[in-house]
Amino acid sequence: MERYEIAVIGSGPAGVSAALNAKIRGKSLLLFGSKQLSDKVLRSEKISNYPGLPDISGEELVGRLQKQLVEMEISVTEEAVTSIYPMGNFFTLLAGQKEYEAETVILTGGAGTAARIPGEEKLLGRGVSYCATCDGNLYRGKTIAVVCDTPTMESEAAFLAELAGKVYYLPLMKNSTLSGANVENLHSAVREIQGEERVSGVVLADGTQLAVDGIFFIRNSVPPAVLLRNLKMQENHVAVDRQMHTNVEGFFAAGDCTGRPYQIAKAVGEGNIAAHAAVEYLDSRKNSAGGNYAD
Ligand SMILES: Cc1cc2nc3c(=O)[nH]c(=O)nc-3n(C[C@H](O)[C@H](O)[C@H](O)COP(=O)(O)OP(=O)(O)OC[C@H]3O[C@@H](n4cnc5c(N)ncnc54)[C@H](O)[C@@H]3O)c2cc1C
Repeated sequence: MERYEIAVIGSGPAGVSAALNAKIRGKSLLLFGSKQLSDKVLRSEKISNYPGLPDISGEELVGRLQKQLVEMEISVTEEAVTSIYPMGNFFTLLAGQKEYEAETVILTGGAGTAARIPGEEKLLGRGVSYCATCDGNLYRGKTIAVVCDTPTMESEAAFLAELAGKVYYLPLMKNSTLSGANVENLHSAVREIQGEERVSGVVLADGTQLAVDGIFFIRNSVPPAVLLRNLKMQENHVAVDRQMHTNVEGFFAAGDCTGRPYQIAKAVGEGNIAAHAAVEYLDSRKNSAGGNYAD
């Protein structure tokens, strides 16, 4: 398997900035995200505080970033990373059922990825899961609810339906359905997850109660501390120092995920710093291995 020097997770302003700088510094890299780059930037009608581009619309800024990526020959890998495992000298990244390897990771997944539904955080790892590949096997033959908010990730839900005994499929997209005799398609939001030691059921927006053994959230963004176990957080944000180092060696973070202000200029600046810190880290490892660093 090819091992990249830098994996950037997230294609918003912070991720694009990190990727451009990593590329300029000649590092091999993967940029995970979407071709639309950032829903947040796209939704900005008018950006008045970005230096040099007065009153640019979010759509135009995304267009310019996309053009710059093409010109720099950086492609976006349209996959959501669901888990990251430190392997000593490198990281293994799971995206759906695919695996990637990178020596360093820069997380730029944006803000607002903390657990959102009552019971979700409390029962995380005890019936609440974000990763079909990691946890699907635990629910073989059991009853589960599957919430999916991303059309490109419906295959994850289908994978779970192959394993589980019964699936309540709760897509947040209007026209999404799963087929299978064991699947019940319900277009409803989850209001609450119930259970004390483990998940025992979910309550839907209309008050319907479903008895389930587990619930999977198939989302295109995963809380940072779920992506990488033992990642230090501070008030719902990834804790970083001024060079964007996290508490995990070789793992950096930038942009909204590191804290307020949620602003494009901050995201771009931190992406730049994180890329330089990752380059410095890679180069120092090579130098300390006498230039023969192999793995
Ligand atoms: C309506 C609105 C108006 C705004 N106006 C302004 C403004 O005028 N000026 C200003 O400075 N800021 C403004 N902002 C804020 C600005 O958009 C954000 O600060 C900025 O987008 C943050 O960039 P980011 O790269 O950190 O994260 P984001 O732009 O949120 O990008 C994160 C990306 O990472 C992807 N991602 C997340 N997790 C994963 C994963 N596990 N695997 C793969 N990809 C993943 C997401 O899908 C997303 O594409 C506005 C925001 C909104 C919502």
